Amino acid sequence: MLQTTTVTLRTLTPLWTGGADRTCDRVHATGIVGSLRWWYEALIRGLGGYACDPTRHTCAYDPEKPDRSVCPACRLFGTTGWARRFRLVIEDRTHPDGPVGAYGADGQPSPGRGRDRSSGPTWYFPGQGRSGTIGLSIVPLAADLDPNLLLGVLALIERHAALGARTQFGYGRVQLQRAPALDVAAFVASLQQAAAAGPAPSHGLPALDEMFFAQIETREQPLAAVLKLRRILRKSFHTAFGGNRELRHFICGTVAGGRQASKVCCSQAVQGIMHVWGWIPEELPHASREAVMDHIKGTLKESGCIRSWREYGSPRDTVLPSPPDRAAFLASLLQKGGVL
Ligand SMILES: [Zn+2]
Repeated sequence: MLQTTTVTLRTLTPLWTGGADRTCDRVHATGIVGSLRWWYEALIRGLGGYACDPTRHTCAYDPEKPDRSVCPACRLFGTTGWARRFRLVIEDRTHPDGPVGAYGADGQPSPGRGRDRSSGPTWYFPGQGRSGTIGLSIVPLAADLDPNLLLGVLALIERHAALGARTQFGYGRVQLQRAPALDVAAFVASLQQAAAAGPAPSHGLPALDEMFFAQIETREQPLAAVLKLRRILRKSFHTAFGGNRELRHFICGTVAGGRQASKVCCSQAVQGIMHVWGWIPEELPHASREAVMDHIKGTLKESGCIRSWREYGSPRDTVLPSPPDRAAFLASLLQKGGVL
């Protein structure tokens, strides 16, 4: 009998995993699996492998080419003709938590939203997230499931990013309270092997080697820290790069003329520290990536003291500015001390 792996997560900021009617009535396994898949794909691409874009097309399993017809992400998470290698069972011990309604840049409720423009920008939160602890049981459905792959992705999310949706508004910082020990070397080696099976450029899809991970110290209230950071970043792109609107919408996101998600995400501050991360691809609208990255780092300094900056093969990286390769960079992200 295949063994189930169990992990207990504790939320550090409210978690958003979706649900009907723009509310998050409970923790949805699909939201967590979606997040794990997104990161797994970014890791495979970051190590030079092909991972399909599941929003456009997914691979289809072809029994005549059993080893080559689906990408590593589909092989683990499933696609047409090929079942997901595991089932995620949630034990939900959470309660509703977090902002709901309109909030001002100071992180305080702002019921006069829209009426009094002089009070500055406001953000609208349609419903509360969930806080508490969550038991995750990874139930293998096939003998070839390697639970270490999922543990590695969870560890990356815990240390540098956040879980679930709405991460651009600070949701989803989690802590692994109880989890089997992660074998970092084995995790990286398995990913490398999966990536090497189908090498391909990342083709404008999120990839680890085009991402950055920062930890920023702030004295702001947890929610105010997020709202301030978003405001400063957006404002800076109004004037930088000749006011390049296309670039601003690409980096900061927009709801106008076709919704575009922000490429920069951040957690609410937890004990005075925010996680900020993003994917800034090589090809940007009329701007060089280097200049944009320098601009983002310079701007984030205005929202707090940068304690750590991780970015592949960049002099901006504060731990390993010239790693021997992408695998070493990933390993360093997961090792203790990988943040300073
Ligand atoms: Zn695929």
